[in-house]
Amino acid sequence: MPEPGRRPAIAILATGGTIAGAQSARPGLGYVAGTFDIGQLLAAVPGLSTIAELHPEQIANVGSQDMRHEVWHALAMRVRALAADAAIDGIVVTHGTDTLEETAYLLDLVIPAGKPLILTGAMRPATALSADGPANLYAAVALAAHPQARGRGALVLLNEEIHDARGVQKIAAAGLAAFASPDRGLAGLMHAGEPVFYRPAHGSAARVAPWRHAPLADPAQWPRVGIVYAHADMQADVITFMAERCQGLVLAGVGDGNATASAMQALADAAARGVAVVRASRTGRGRVGRNVEVDDDGLGFIAAGDLNPQKARVLLMLALMSKPDQATLRDWFDAA
Ligand code: ASP
Repeated sequence: MPEPGRRPAIAILATGGTIAGAQSARPGLGYVAGTFDIGQLLAAVPGLSTIAELHPEQIANVGSQDMRHEVWHALAMRVRALAADAAIDGIVVTHGTDTLEETAYLLDLVIPAGKPLILTGAMRPATALSADGPANLYAAVALAAHPQARGRGALVLLNEEIHDARGVQKIAAAGLAAFASPDRGLAGLMHAGEPVFYRPAHGSAARVAPWRHAPLADPAQWPRVGIVYAHADMQADVITFMAERCQGLVLAGVGDGNATASAMQALADAAARGVAVVRASRTGRGRVGRNVEVDDDGLGFIAAGDLNPQKARVLLMLALMSKPDQATLRDWFDAA
């Protein structure tokens, strides 16, 4: 952290999203994410430069529904460089809210825990009445500048609530209270401009993480991992279709990661052909346990625990880069 009297140096990496979005003339209807650049966002937050020395960069300017692996790669490489830069005390990433939890978890997995790394966004576009972006950005910079945010891996901050990247989920399509950490609870709150943490710093999510220090492959080489969403009367052909195109499949299963007998058989066939199959739950809460209702060991599946399907996809993709055997992959999911 900076010497006494020096403002903390905070890098702000902008990627777009509603926080940078502009509305059409009719309030509440029609807006375009990723319209304003980081300079314009910062100009809308009075007093920000009094709490930190700001180092803004534009990495991308997209709605996060369009977040591509190429942007993840560029962002991760830049965050890694800033994490190793002694002149920078903390890092803020502005991001659309739709896939924010996936980006946060990816960064949590590939960046050593240490320097504060805060992701934020907004549910209302920058031009809306009572836009939430400026307050979220101010709070994110204050948190990134705070010594207590160190050693916690990637954190997500919106609506004055601080979440661990591992547990946070977007739980609502609209409204300011769109993020929650359903199983693990909030990491803390922002109160009067300061963080109040509910538990001690624990480092990043995955304790065993070979990809944390390894060079990140070119995104064109990243394994393709898809998610299949289970439902009543699910047919097997959709799984067969995806298994022919993916090295990994995540089942967003009913209940504790289940699906129709024919879908489960198609997944077992895929696993037998070398596709990595992870069972997660579409419910949004609770753990998918190994060998509880499904014979994971017999069928060649991995149970996702309390990782939701979209985060299980991120972990599986990173893990498959190291070409692990089934036992190692299972260990990594158990430790994640
Ligand atoms: N579609 C937008 C995005 O994820 C929504 C938002 O930012 O709130 O970029």
